[in-house]
Amino acid sequence: MGLRNLSAAFDMILELGDQKFSRTMGLRHDEHDEAFTLSQNATGHVFQERLHTKCMHDNVHRSIYVDALSLRFVDTEQFQRLRDIRQLGLCHMVYPGAVHTRFEHSLGTYYLADQAITRIKNFQGAELGIDRSDVKAVKLAGLLHDIGHGPFSHVFDNEFLPKILPGEKWSHEEMSVDMIDYIVDLHHIDIDSGDLRRVKSSKEKRFLYDIVANGRNGIDVDKFDYIERDTRACGIGNSFSYSRLMENMRVMDDEICYRAKEARNVYNLFQTRADLHRTVYTHPKVKAMELMLADAFLLANDYLLISEQIQSPEDFWKLDDTILKAIETACQPELKSAQEIILRLRRRQLYQFCNEYAVPKEMMDHFKDVTAKDIVCAQTRSGVELREEDIVVNNQKIDLTRGQEDPVRSVSFFQDYESNEKFKIQKERISHLLPSFFLDRIVRVYSKKPELVPVSSLLPLHKWDGRFPVIFSLLRARLVTEVCPRLD
Ligand SMILES: [Zn+2]
Repeated sequence: MGLRNLSAAFDMILELGDQKFSRTMGLRHDEHDEAFTLSQNATGHVFQERLHTKCMHDNVHRSIYVDALSLRFVDTEQFQRLRDIRQLGLCHMVYPGAVHTRFEHSLGTYYLADQAITRIKNFQGAELGIDRSDVKAVKLAGLLHDIGHGPFSHVFDNEFLPKILPGEKWSHEEMSVDMIDYIVDLHHIDIDSGDLRRVKSSKEKRFLYDIVANGRNGIDVDKFDYIERDTRACGIGNSFSYSRLMENMRVMDDEICYRAKEARNVYNLFQTRADLHRTVYTHPKVKAMELMLADAFLLANDYLLISEQIQSPEDFWKLDDTILKAIETACQPELKSAQEIILRLRRRQLYQFCNEYAVPKEMMDHFKDVTAKDIVCAQTRSGVELREEDIVVNNQKIDLTRGQEDPVRSVSFFQDYESNEKFKIQKERISHLLPSFFLDRIVRVYSKKPELVPVSSLLPLHKWDGRFPVIFSLLRARLVTEVCPRLD
């Protein structure tokens, strides 16, 4: 082959390579295995960043490119287990589309964390001293923020653990931190210890950590992803636009601030989140099933020692949603009572929702959680004798993230990119139609035995008086305890 032919062949190889590169960059959507293979362009520049980057196709964010370091975490059994943990516990039993898992959500949060830090770096990188390791840390924090979740997500830490280990201070956030260390050690991941520390928390440049988990005002990419993902999966409305908010943010005095014109969009974020809590996460039927699931875990715990697995990441990563099937299909007689509850779940013979009570605003501060014991103590003679083990009470709080406070009062805004002043916005300056109170407390009562609850109990509470005195009096008695001694 002559010199000219050799040169032409080389050009052709480069062209083919470029085509492959552009295909991978924009058009190929295969999950996971589409590695970039072209490492050099015609000038010999090495695309080190892209060399081992992989593309995953996500139904919310489309193509998500995962860099080599992040892949070292993704391709571990500890991260892959997130595929077996439903994002929304048992919500799919009421909203059939809500079958997505912590795996997709973690990738989505990774993607948005990348978008946010890249945007801030592009506009303010020099001013804020953002370097490559900052970007790396923020992306990994997004990817790994939920790696400490247990089976069925919040069912495990909100319903099961408080009952089996009352007073135990365990949180999935702390387990996430322990799990990250465990993965790094186990899989010999080459990551600088300073970078690793910043993945878990960041004292300097606090705005970096706020991108994924914002302790100041609750606006973070974790929420952006789950609000978008959950509303889509459940087919409910979403008036909040995360992309608009991300296009209008800026760091001022180490704090992420938003353009004043986005104030209503910020309210929409909190309002949509509250709607999700009310209509999906705490739907009365979902709650009934989650209470049943927690009871099944409680009954299986003596035999399976589930609660002992929370002490170390080495044991904890082996727990996921498949535990439900393991209990259901086990041959051991010790699991019979847990199996009976799961069978009721399958056959939709659920704990019967009796009624709910919305705590009045003026009683909110001093209202104590209602217990099954309160209910049993408050029953009047009605021919039906309730026992504590027949009743489940669910005390639910729904807020806009900051209890009774208006969350937007914790958000800082700026007028435009020419001004350097940040300020708070009073909601009256935005609209008089915005909420004036920011917390709901709801007491729900369930009977484990449907035969104890006559059909009439499904009537609204105010129509109950005299028709089903047992349940009604318990709710009334609980209110009276605000001025009377507790019943227990
Ligand atoms: Zn999350």
